[in-house]
Amino acid sequence: MKLSTRLRTHVCGAVTDELVDTQVSLCGWVRRSRDHGGVIFVDLRDRYGVIQVVFRGENQGGDAAIRDLAKALHAEDSIRVEGQVVRRSPDTVNDQMATGQVEVVASSLRVLNQAPAELPFPVEGEVANEELRLRHRYLDLRRDALQKTFALRSRVTLAARNHLISQGFLDIETPMLVKRTPEGARDYLVPSRVHPGEFYALPQSPQLYKQILMVSGFDRYFQLARCLRDEDLRADRQPEHTQIDLEMSYVDEEDVFELVEGLVSHLWKDALDVDVPRPFPRLTYAEAMESYGTDKPDLNCGPAFFEAADLAEQSSSDLFRGVRARGDRMKGFRVPGGGEWSRRIIDELGEVAGRGGAKGLAWMKVADGELSGGVAKFFGDVATALVERSEAQSGDLLLFVAGSEKVVNTSLDLVRREVGKRRGWTEGKPPAFLWVTRFPVFERDEEAGGWTACHHIFTMPHDDCVDTFDQEPEKAVGKLYDLVLDGTELGSGSIRIHRRDLQLRALAVVGVDEAKAEERFGFLLRAFDHGAPPHGGIALGLDRIIMLMTGRSSLRDVIAFPKTNRAISPMDECPSPVEQQILDDLRVSIRKDPPQS
Ligand code: ASP
Repeated sequence: MKLSTRLRTHVCGAVTDELVDTQVSLCGWVRRSRDHGGVIFVDLRDRYGVIQVVFRGENQGGDAAIRDLAKALHAEDSIRVEGQVVRRSPDTVNDQMATGQVEVVASSLRVLNQAPAELPFPVEGEVANEELRLRHRYLDLRRDALQKTFALRSRVTLAARNHLISQGFLDIETPMLVKRTPEGARDYLVPSRVHPGEFYALPQSPQLYKQILMVSGFDRYFQLARCLRDEDLRADRQPEHTQIDLEMSYVDEEDVFELVEGLVSHLWKDALDVDVPRPFPRLTYAEAMESYGTDKPDLNCGPAFFEAADLAEQSSSDLFRGVRARGDRMKGFRVPGGGEWSRRIIDELGEVAGRGGAKGLAWMKVADGELSGGVAKFFGDVATALVERSEAQSGDLLLFVAGSEKVVNTSLDLVRREVGKRRGWTEGKPPAFLWVTRFPVFERDEEAGGWTACHHIFTMPHDDCVDTFDQEPEKAVGKLYDLVLDGTELGSGSIRIHRRDLQLRALAVVGVDEAKAEERFGFLLRAFDHGAPPHGGIALGLDRIIMLMTGRSSLRDVIAFPKTNRAISPMDECPSPVEQQILDDLRVSIRKDPPQS
């Protein structure tokens, strides 16, 4: 690879002992400089590494004017240096540096551009103030960890493209200015200047366009697609995100699983040299909720939940005996080796359960088939059954929550994740991928009443409910799947409806009648009428993939120019007002009263 240019002969990281006695010209940033009795040592850094440059004074055979210029350098000044590569004396060799065997004795120095003497923050080391980091993102991105993250991200996108192309996929772009077709979140709208009062939307995803590409015969499409959603931001959301978006014709769920497992394994192998165990395990949505209280369980966090309400009925505590009569649930799970935990740790887990709405976290320890501590005294009569049911071993801890189904699931899921973390079960494990399948097609719309689509309304109901899904929406199960990694949802997809009659029936369930369907989705329905093939696909969150690969906890660390969680970009200060003339051209006027929410 040729990295030399008219300005530099080598990159800093490539100056190794093979170049001893060679004249080089290097460009980069001053990482730091030190004055050792009139000799200036500068660590020069670029994307590829760091090299030590020496500026000698006239007494050491150098040029005093150049040395004095070097003396005045600040960290992050941008410079160009010419000089000769020399071997370091044995006592100054630095084995920690790839270039630590050599140094460059400078014969010229040009300051290409200065950095301020007082930097907003040092480029080396951690910086706590994220707002400040984002304001000076140019500097922030110079940091080693971020340089590595974006190199990895670039590698992953190339690997994804290569793999999908090798599987017969075509990379096709879909428009950024689209018709507003709501997909669950609010749209970003773009006013049309030539059609005053009319708007484009920015795409929440390429969903309808990729389906239409299937109607057009492209068979296998993918795109690294930018998706824009005007959502209330949470810690792990951004208004813009990138998906590895794909769609295939003539497929069922198994075909999509096989393809995605191949893609994901390829990405982990290529980027991290990690072998991903295959095939990925599968759980139905109902199983996941029953066994782990969540539709994105982390399988590394220990054993699944077990039913405890029937055993609680035989306990000697009124509180537990009444669980079923109150219409509540009680489930528990086993913490292998958790018997050694102190009361303080169990209390802390109780606080975690409280965050999920639980009134308390019941516990007991198991030793030699006997129960002790916590609520054990109430369960003496069912001790054997409980030990059997939980598969408890001596030294285990059993944890329980009773309450409404939602409270039990939410709190026990939180506690189980916390337990996994505290016991170190999640560390150093190969990535735990999981398919969660058979999601419900519809869910109750808590705000507006009626039904709304669980994923999106283009999902094909399962064969066993395709005739009845609109009469019994609460029972409708979709050909709808999520890919989960280590307890985080990486992507969702489905087999799609590809016929007008079915699509109209699905839309009717969510309150979209035929006239409205025609107005909003007429183009899709007309496409279906022209010989649409059966098709399905998925979209995987690229930002999340990179976040999990790099062990980061924020999407902002894997997006070059992210927004804050108030949806602003401190660096370029957007969003920002625009001139009145521009608004006039767009026929847009701004209301002065404060927004409703
Ligand atoms: N369009 C969907 C989404 O963005 C993904 C899919 O169903 O393929 O979540």
